Amino acid sequence: MTTPADVTKTTVIKAASWVVAYDEATDRHVYRTDCDVAFRGDRFVLADAAIAASADEVIDGRNLMVMPGFVDIHSHPSFETMLKGLTEEVGSAKLYMSSLYEYLFLFETEAAGMVASSQVALSELLQSGVTTVCDLSVPHEGWLDTLAASGLRAYAAPMFRAARWYTRNGHEVLYEWDIPLGRKRMDEALAVVDAAVAHPSGRLSGMICPAQIDTCDEALFRDAFAAAQDRGLPFQTHASQSVVEFQEMMRRHGRTPVGWLKEIGVLGPLTTIGHGIFFDHNDWLGWPTRDDVRILVESGASVAHCPTVFIRRGITLQHLGGYLKAGLNVGIGTDTFPHNYVEEVRNAIYAARITARDAHAVNASDALHAATLGGAKALGRTDIGRVAPGAKADFFTVDLTHPAMRPLYDPVRSLFYTAGERPIRDVYVDGRKVVESGRALAFDLDDALNRLEEAQRLSVSKVGQYDWANRPASELMPLTL
Ligand SMILES: [Zn+2]
Repeated sequence: MTTPADVTKTTVIKAASWVVAYDEATDRHVYRTDCDVAFRGDRFVLADAAIAASADEVIDGRNLMVMPGFVDIHSHPSFETMLKGLTEEVGSAKLYMSSLYEYLFLFETEAAGMVASSQVALSELLQSGVTTVCDLSVPHEGWLDTLAASGLRAYAAPMFRAARWYTRNGHEVLYEWDIPLGRKRMDEALAVVDAAVAHPSGRLSGMICPAQIDTCDEALFRDAFAAAQDRGLPFQTHASQSVVEFQEMMRRHGRTPVGWLKEIGVLGPLTTIGHGIFFDHNDWLGWPTRDDVRILVESGASVAHCPTVFIRRGITLQHLGGYLKAGLNVGIGTDTFPHNYVEEVRNAIYAARITARDAHAVNASDALHAATLGGAKALGRTDIGRVAPGAKADFFTVDLTHPAMRPLYDPVRSLFYTAGERPIRDVYVDGRKVVESGRALAFDLDDALNRLEEAQRLSVSKVGQYDWANRPASELMPLTL
């Protein structure tokens, strides 16, 4: 999977029944039916008669939909799969239902477990149509090689911070600061980013990622942002992700999280806020101002929306349709397991409608835009997230004869609302097939799952060591029955 794409090979998907094509004039996707799609090497080309005549490979497009690959703007593949079966029903009732402070750091993970987790998560992402992933991870041995081997287009986003959260009682969050260590971690992260950009696969890039707004000091933030600007790379931090964090930033600075990011000068078109839920208008805060969304729109920054991990705790972003209507760019990410992008998109739609109490808050076109062009914009790219001549040939095909897609009236709606990832057949990145007949090709998934299970067992056995009250996993996360 690491061999370079054949730069001269031309492939034509002949008479595709449906194509989700890009309309540059409106910057939206449009349906086309019964048309050819062509790519040469790593890029789409205009599917004219000359290309059709010179094609090295012709794929029968009847009963297929060709869609742009999804751009996953926020994920933690090296870790989150480890939590399957454990954290779906946790949340601290005395900390506004967040799971960050009592649960996130219960799970010790070694490098081998992180690689196994990544292999499982990246396979799952690919099989649900993702072609670009932003991987927010703690740097670990084997990371870049795993990303490259996956076949995905990947942004390595090594997280660093100068403080850690802890609680002694489950109702107060404290911060243990080590400013020099944060600086050292940033330098290490920048080295990883530079190695990713220089990676011979040509599919890796980097993102500068101070881990959380409340765990990084101002100088670290400013220097991290400068490092991103020097490199022309995107910048992302977790912010506005809990009520506790909002109140902590207000306590420290007299600013909302977004207000503080503006004040220290780190908002811009390549800045992404993950998860951007607790802006000043959010009614869990009871806050009187309505400035945060406007500040972000004016700065050109984006939000990484990852609904699943929050709706498990009764928390929703208020609301996706409102953000989009205000002109705020939103990409969609998979913060948690499952790494099933189509399900994440479905959750984004339903969460918005419930929160807005409005069936028209978000439709499939809006969600598709966020999942592709929204993510691309957050990364500063005009060559991904679209099926268009000149763009990267990152796309997937959907089997329209799959029972979950029938009867067929509107294939994108059927994919999002009914079928999920099941009819996704082949996925291509840089014009190379990375999923065939629904199976990611890079890794031995059974073997990776075996290693992941071993890592999870070890991690679960140590949970009590990391809990403030030394409770074992069986007490903190008891079995369903
Ligand atoms: Zn996250």
